[in-house]
Amino acid sequence: MASYVKSESGKRLTELMAGCYLGNHQRAQQGAFVVWIAIGVPAEIFLGFENVVYAVPESHAAMTAARGLGPAQCEKAERAGYSMDLCSYARIDLGTAFDNGKDSPVGGLPKPDLLISNNNNCSLLVKWFDVLHREWKTPHFTLDIPFCYEVQSPQDKSYILAQFHDLIRTIEGMSGQRFDIDRVAEATRCSSEATRHWKRFLACAESRPSGITAFDSFVQMAPILTMRGTAAYAEHFRLLADETEERMATGLFPVADERYRLFWDNIAPWHQLRRMQKSLAERQANIIAASYTFCIGGLEGTYDPWYFEGGDPLAYLARTQNFSICPHGMTLRRAAMTGALETLGIDWVIFASNRSCKPYSVMQMDQQRFISETCGVSTVMIDIDHADSRSYSEKNAQLRIDALLENIEARR
Ligand code: SF4
Repeated sequence: MASYVKSESGKRLTELMAGCYLGNHQRAQQGAFVVWIAIGVPAEIFLGFENVVYAVPESHAAMTAARGLGPAQCEKAERAGYSMDLCSYARIDLGTAFDNGKDSPVGGLPKPDLLISNNNNCSLLVKWFDVLHREWKTPHFTLDIPFCYEVQSPQDKSYILAQFHDLIRTIEGMSGQRFDIDRVAEATRCSSEATRHWKRFLACAESRPSGITAFDSFVQMAPILTMRGTAAYAEHFRLLADETEERMATGLFPVADERYRLFWDNIAPWHQLRRMQKSLAERQANIIAASYTFCIGGLEGTYDPWYFEGGDPLAYLARTQNFSICPHGMTLRRAAMTGALETLGIDWVIFASNRSCKPYSVMQMDQQRFISETCGVSTVMIDIDHADSRSYSEKNAQLRIDALLENIEARR
């Protein structure tokens, strides 16, 4: 059996992310207009301006947690009076912002000229950006995105589109820069191309053994948040998918003796990635996919991606606002997970009840019952916090996972 070695794409990702954070600081120092955005805000819009940089606090918080710095940054926000019950991304970001990025692995994010939140993932995010607005007197623009129970209506799309135009006028007025729709079309084309390769990469989980782990896809999500709309972003995912397919063709698989194919529901436990992956691999188990990464590029829970084929890029971006899980109702969540389990041949689903992300977690018990009863797939619920390791018990999670593996084995 060939040994599994770190991929070139993994090494390239480290360089890309370092360059991205450093580049944002440099451009801000040279006078770029800086916006902070929630992850669902379509970053391609900002590439329509000559000198606007966007930074994503949620992505910075995830990276901070992955480096083991989540609790220390959370505690700074808690000392300032913010409850431990609030999302750990928000606490990490506020803790980082309150001491000007002092303990951040990348010196924090450049101070924003404009904060742009949206409310389709959660309302906490709007409040979080409001805190920054009050602290720094930075203007705060909120996109009001309708909740998603079914396919997006034309009225909802028009409503979102009108807000994009408002946002563009706001940035033009504040920055003095002219907006160019052709630049957005090119950025959207790059993002669409990146999505095509991202889906090709995720499809490597369909083989037996799987060509990837969900841990790979969690880590490789970073450019989707921080480099959207760029040619380098599309190229990175092309190389990632190519390399993964080549590795499979030469017999390189992350868990070559794979016996259990698992699916993860919720945000990644950033502080546990390596430990969890290693411990599962030792039991011949692989979490091959996750609803968290599976939804990217789809709409309303469908696995089929939706690509930009020309036309109005802003209309395309408005249509793609319904990609993520948190705003989805139960029907869409059920359909998405059922489809994924069938496509991937999953033995078992780990529902990770996330103390921080209530909107992701709130329907999980119903979803768990539905999946167990209708799909014949074993399930387990474990408690996590995606970024604050103080609220996670590795021992408890391990015990439940071990019990489930024994259960699957006993049924075979
Ligand atoms: S609660 Fe969930 S959706 Fe809201 S900011 Fe935190 S991680 Fe994101």
